[in-house]
Amino acid sequence: MDATEVAFFGDPQMMARGILVNGRGQRFIAEDTYGGRIGQASLIQQDNTAYLVMDMAAHEEALATETSTPYFRQPPTWAAETVDELESDMGLPAGSLAATVQMYNRHAATGTDPLLHKKEQWVRPLTGPVAAWDMRGFTAGFTLGGLRTDVESRVLHVDGAPIPGLFAAGRCTSGVCAGGYASGTSLGDGSFFGRRAGATAAT
Ligand SMILES: Cc1cc2nc3c(=O)[nH]c(=O)nc-3n(C[C@H](O)[C@H](O)[C@H](O)COP(=O)(O)OP(=O)(O)OC[C@H]3O[C@@H](n4cnc5c(N)ncnc54)[C@H](O)[C@@H]3O)c2cc1C
Repeated sequence: MDATEVAFFGDPQMMARGILVNGRGQRFIAEDTYGGRIGQASLIQQDNTAYLVMDMAAHEEALATETSTPYFRQPPTWAAETVDELESDMGLPAGSLAATVQMYNRHAATGTDPLLHKKEQWVRPLTGPVAAWDMRGFTAGFTLGGLRTDVESRVLHVDGAPIPGLFAAGRCTSGVCAGGYASGTSLGDGSFFGRRAGATAAT
């Protein structure tokens, strides 16, 4: 039981166009990566603290895109004319967000992100009025670890031998995705190995 999925409830269209920073005003993950990885990084490594920072042009562009998750779209928590002002309003250490944006913009000017390798298509300097969304606590998860089983869904003893008559499937098992989550693999391995447990038990 040492593994967990942590969903991050941010709009991917907005996150990819902005930068995610921690409580020290520093970026910590590529914003276009899988939401489960963003959730794990935020909760486990950043004390469940993340802020999304965007400029107005990027925000308007994100709003103009179709999304299947409109409920992720909240009004910004803070908005300011400059990054310095925004940093102060957010209560971040003086100069921290400014340094992050300066570094990000320096490389974004040539469409690159050498620190975290966000895809080129999303990398653009942040300019003009800026806004930030308080994403603290926007995470929720479920366990990934559990009983070890074989491909017939028989539960394995710690010595590795199947325990006669005991089957398991779904999230009470360590399953396919115990080492890190990918959306869909829970219902997939639950139904697949549930069926195999039934078939094996029937024989
Ligand atoms: C917000 C969220 C989004 C998700 N999105 C996806 C997704 O997009 N794709 C995907 O594949 N998975 C997704 N999942 C994960 C997936 O829904 C679950 O992992 C899956 O439903 C687990 O199935 P299960 O049968 O193993 O366990 P459960 O569905 O938890 O079933 C266990 C059952 O056992 C019962 N039970 C517990 N204790 C006892 C007891 N002592 N006696 C008798 N019964 C008991 C419980 O009441 C429950 O009905 C999501 C989960 C969450 C929370």
